[in-house]
Amino acid sequence: MLRNLMLFLASNAKLAALISQVGRRSGLTRRFIAGESLAEAIPAIRELESLGLDTTLDLLGEGVTQEEEAVNAARLYRRLLRRIEETQLRSGISIKLTQLGLGFDRELCDRNLRLILDEAESLKKFVRIDMESSAYTEATLDLFRTQLEHYGPRRVGVVVQSYLYRTESDVKSLIGTGCNIRLCKGAYMEPEEVAFPKKADVDANFTRLLDLMLDSDLYSAIATHDERMIAHAKKVIASNGLPENRYEFQMLFGVRRELQVALRQEGFRMRVYVPFGTQWAPYFMRRLAERPANVLFILRNMFKA
Ligand SMILES: Cc1cc2nc3c(=O)[nH]c(=O)nc-3n(C[C@H](O)[C@H](O)[C@H](O)COP(=O)(O)OP(=O)(O)OC[C@H]3O[C@@H](n4cnc5c(N)ncnc54)[C@H](O)[C@@H]3O)c2cc1C
Repeated sequence: MLRNLMLFLASNAKLAALISQVGRRSGLTRRFIAGESLAEAIPAIRELESLGLDTTLDLLGEGVTQEEEAVNAARLYRRLLRRIEETQLRSGISIKLTQLGLGFDRELCDRNLRLILDEAESLKKFVRIDMESSAYTEATLDLFRTQLEHYGPRRVGVVVQSYLYRTESDVKSLIGTGCNIRLCKGAYMEPEEVAFPKKADVDANFTRLLDLMLDSDLYSAIATHDERMIAHAKKVIASNGLPENRYEFQMLFGVRRELQVALRQEGFRMRVYVPFGTQWAPYFMRRLAERPANVLFILRNMFKA
């Protein structure tokens, strides 16, 4: 309920701005967002690295409506790849296709994506295409498949969401390509026609998809903070005798840090998703929606002077 309410409020720009202001004033944004620039984020990234954690960097932004913004985002991402190389961070990048123009011009998005992948190819970096709302699932997977053929699984990967009914068939269609898939539950507000409305079903589908992925040629990026999902993954990894180069765990910056470190100490590869930038409101709202305690924290702060 709270999750849907929060995601609904996030779709109203004025309310989202108000809630984000409260988040900033109370310091909650700094828990989830590493900084407003790469320079600001670097100390946090280095700290994660010192704990043995890898990272994927998200230059925040999505849903752009102007060609200029989309072209600029591609330029900034190419620069980010070069900065990652220069500063020798152990990072890849995560991008959203609506930041590159998918919402209004698919050709433009495709061109922007190729520019980023060309840079990644020359620097030997990995680019993950995040998955957004179900309105973009088909186009995102199409664009991904085309780029996968050209650049290969070491350069580009994608995300699937266990809340969508279609995901099982999407995963099955990618088996055999050896590609790198991040499995998550899904963070957007979706209608019952396309997504399981009950959390128990989303969780059950997560384990079903995980079983499929871990029993295939795919590289599995297991993106969850849910200890039951993690325990299940560990069990299957052990019983399949899966080598370390076939999977990793992933979590979000600012969420379950102790669990991130514990998994690393057990010997698992752990990658933290590190968002930074000034366009943080939609990302922040999704993080709030995931946990009632976050929403209550904001509500309490709204009424403080
Ligand atoms: C690395 C990574 C990349 C992602 N990429 C995408 C993507 O491309 N597209 C997409 O739709 N979604 C993405 N997500 C978000 C994901 O879909 C879920 O919304 C989010 O991870 C919460 O689900 P969960 O698996 O942690 O399980 P839940 O059952 O929601 O949470 C399990 C436990 O984790 C903790 N927790 C979870 N979220 C929070 C939070 N925000 N604040 C505090 N504690 C929390 C709580 O202790 C909670 O009980 C990504 C998540 C991760 C970890």
